[in-house]
Amino acid sequence: MTVVVAGAGPAGLMLSAELALAGVEVLVVDQLPRRSPICRGFTLNARSLELLDRRGIADRFLEAGPTVPYSMFADPARPLDLTAMDTDHPYVLGIAQTLVEELLEQWLAELGVPVRWGHEVVGCDQDDTGVGVTLRVDGAHRRIRADYLVGCDGSRSIVRKLAGIGFPGTDATTFSLLADVELADPADLPFGVTEGEHGTVFVIPRPGYVRIVLDEPEPPGDRDQPVQLAHFQNVLDQALGRRVALREPRWLTRFSDAARQADRYVAGRIMLTGDAAHIHPPAGAVGVNVALADAVNLGWKLAATTLGHAPDGLLDSYHEERHPAGARVLRTTRVQTVLGRRETALDPVRDLFSELTALAPVGKYLAELITGVSTRYDPKIPGEHPWLGRLAPNLKLITDGEHTSIAKLLRTARPVLLELGDRTLPTGPESRVTAHRARCPEHPDLEGLLIRPDGHTAWISTQTDPQPTDTLTTALTTWFGDGTHG
Ligand SMILES: Cc1cc2nc3c(=O)[nH]c(=O)nc-3n(C[C@H](O)[C@H](O)[C@H](O)COP(=O)(O)OP(=O)(O)OC[C@H]3O[C@@H](n4cnc5c(N)ncnc54)[C@H](O)[C@@H]3O)c2cc1C
Repeated sequence: MTVVVAGAGPAGLMLSAELALAGVEVLVVDQLPRRSPICRGFTLNARSLELLDRRGIADRFLEAGPTVPYSMFADPARPLDLTAMDTDHPYVLGIAQTLVEELLEQWLAELGVPVRWGHEVVGCDQDDTGVGVTLRVDGAHRRIRADYLVGCDGSRSIVRKLAGIGFPGTDATTFSLLADVELADPADLPFGVTEGEHGTVFVIPRPGYVRIVLDEPEPPGDRDQPVQLAHFQNVLDQALGRRVALREPRWLTRFSDAARQADRYVAGRIMLTGDAAHIHPPAGAVGVNVALADAVNLGWKLAATTLGHAPDGLLDSYHEERHPAGARVLRTTRVQTVLGRRETALDPVRDLFSELTALAPVGKYLAELITGVSTRYDPKIPGEHPWLGRLAPNLKLITDGEHTSIAKLLRTARPVLLELGDRTLPTGPESRVTAHRARCPEHPDLEGLLIRPDGHTAWISTQTDPQPTDTLTTALTTWFGDGTHG
């Protein structure tokens, strides 16, 4: 077995699919007997849809829910306008996380990889040649050996702990309660925000039930104890200053403002993605989205490493690129949590912040920041072009008389070199990069574009650039090797 992926949540499913696309043998295991019916999140953002589009599967998700052109940041009365973002998907998609996982699992199955449910990772160790993974299956222990192990096993990741990876950050200072329940009388509590006598209550409509979220005034004695309906009812009644009867609880839980991040995303042959690598307050609803972005960044790098043609340092670039991205998520979710506090001392800060976010450039900046649309990775070559290091826009192209697009050319998850001008470009190790001679009528000035499998621009040149091929050779070698490996 080449790669073991621990956990079949969004991160594990996406990563496994990326590995499978690249031809890597992968075993994806999950401790649960089957997918949990509990739905944590309800959103996919622009960056996730861009990435799914570059694998040809965005439509499956877009068909499943409504799109909304705004998102909340600090002030519910002044949502962020998402239409200003530079993206094909200037909105957030309302889709249950359970359905996101189901669709990803279907895609993975189409790629020939089944999820092994009921397989719990209980041990792992590594040496220079591989990793040992101990699985508990039907109560019995089974030991397997693999080249690499990726912990996609959520916030309490056992892989992270066994690999000795630190998880520094801030402890919980405030707690919130969440209940998926029915209101005995639906007229008792409106959807949206209700300011009660002693607290704010959020009510989100769900099919056949509501999700209620509110602050827990006292820190729980034991935060791991399951939340009981009687406790939730009590806190709700206190916040509202009146009784609103609840029934039929489907899911009761608590979450906090704890924020932590793995100090290493890559530890030898063990890596972390998604919640295993970072936890943060749920403000902004981005966890699934960050998990998908981690997975797509790691997938091609781990595949190249496993298949033996990765240049030196490629796998480490996963940490170099995604750790700062995770740190930005911790920062923005912390800011939203602080701004959401019911402290009157914060009112002027909130007011000022609302005024600022209403300014078009600030709103755009924030929207692209929280969705990850503005994510830029160090291209490791000089260059001033604004696309360099960022996700290449989904340009419309003509190749061999056929209409296509960048998203379509990236479906196989291979690096793409576009030759758009008259000069012939050096393609480097032929087998690593798929070169296309194409025309781009929208941007006739473009001469060439090198795009990584995750869609980010590794090199770009226009007709007026004097020596484009020098930097192209460096970019090809940096990301795809010089052909001496593998
Ligand atoms: C109340 C709430 C609301 C949220 N709303 C949103 C939202 O609207 N939008 C959004 O983007 N995000 C949201 N999130 C965050 C989102 O749910 C997580 O960030 C996301 O699920 C992380 O994906 P993951 O794959 O990293 O981890 P997980 O989804 O946690 O998946 C981890 C998987 O690993 C498995 N596993 C664990 N241990 C082992 C083991 N030892 N062996 C084998 N398998 C193991 C688990 O069974 C699980 O299936 C919300 C979170 C909460 C709590």
